[in-house]
Amino acid sequence: MIRVTFLGTAAARPTVGRNVSAIMMHRGGDSLLFDCGEGTQRQMMRYGSGFSVDDIFFSHLHADHFLGLTGLLRTMGLQGREEPMRLWAPEGGARILRDAANLGLERVPFQLEIIELQPDQHVPRDGYDIVAYRSQHGARSLGYALVEAERLGRFDPGRARALGVPEGPLFGKLHQGESVEVDGRLITPAELVGPMRPGRRVVYTGDTRPCPATIDIARDADLLIHDATFTHEEAERARDTDHSTAREAAELAKHAGVVQLALTHISARYADDVRPLEREARAVFRSTVVAHDGLTLEVAFRDAV
Ligand SMILES: [Zn+2]
Ligand SMILES: [Zn+2]
Repeated sequence: MIRVTFLGTAAARPTVGRNVSAIMMHRGGDSLLFDCGEGTQRQMMRYGSGFSVDDIFFSHLHADHFLGLTGLLRTMGLQGREEPMRLWAPEGGARILRDAANLGLERVPFQLEIIELQPDQHVPRDGYDIVAYRSQHGARSLGYALVEAERLGRFDPGRARALGVPEGPLFGKLHQGESVEVDGRLITPAELVGPMRPGRRVVYTGDTRPCPATIDIARDADLLIHDATFTHEEAERARDTDHSTAREAAELAKHAGVVQLALTHISARYADDVRPLEREARAVFRSTVVAHDGLTLEVAFRDAV
């Protein structure tokens, strides 16, 4: 299961109902945090996302995306954390994150590794990669994609039995791509196993203009989480501030052929009513949700439904 929890969905500053940017992704036993705006630790408590985070990926170093780091590290220190933590940032971000981590009199009592990522760099994990790409929000912003490895094709147990393969370890061998011999006959995986199946793909743009790099990396993605700071009435302002409108995000989602679009980084002017954002996005791309704090989306395998 991949579970995405929106911890903060406001642009630039918090409102009563929305905190600033942070998104938690859980996959298997891994907890990955994307951005960490002020107050993120309290959102983690409120929405039960847990504190067992080992990696934080920063899209860029505007204050609404990293000011939560200092407090989160202090709390983890008080909790007696001993495990190392890795912070990932675009070029030039390490110095700022180092300052944020060391602010005040306390020291971080566990190992903190700060790594700057280049666009197209892959961070390999067990069964998937986190891939950084160049978004369009100032010179050094990054978006991120969680890209799972391909999965084995579907195994046909009925056909295996019909071919006389005894149930048990031989099933596993065939599924893994090995030929086996049964009663002097060679049985090949091609007879029983379908083509490799794609893994899941979740893309988080961070703050950005709509850009071709997002289309490329979000091609056929299961979930695209896109900046939608404004409605199209504010298109010029979106352009001037390197953000996107809901319509632009929806057009991009349609172009990339994603399964679902989640809009985030919502301007305070829509604090009371996000329907204008939702309406204009859904007119272009129906499978759109405007994220709110605490929203959890589960990303299933497409062939499982
Ligand atoms: Zn922002
Ligand atoms: Zn920004």
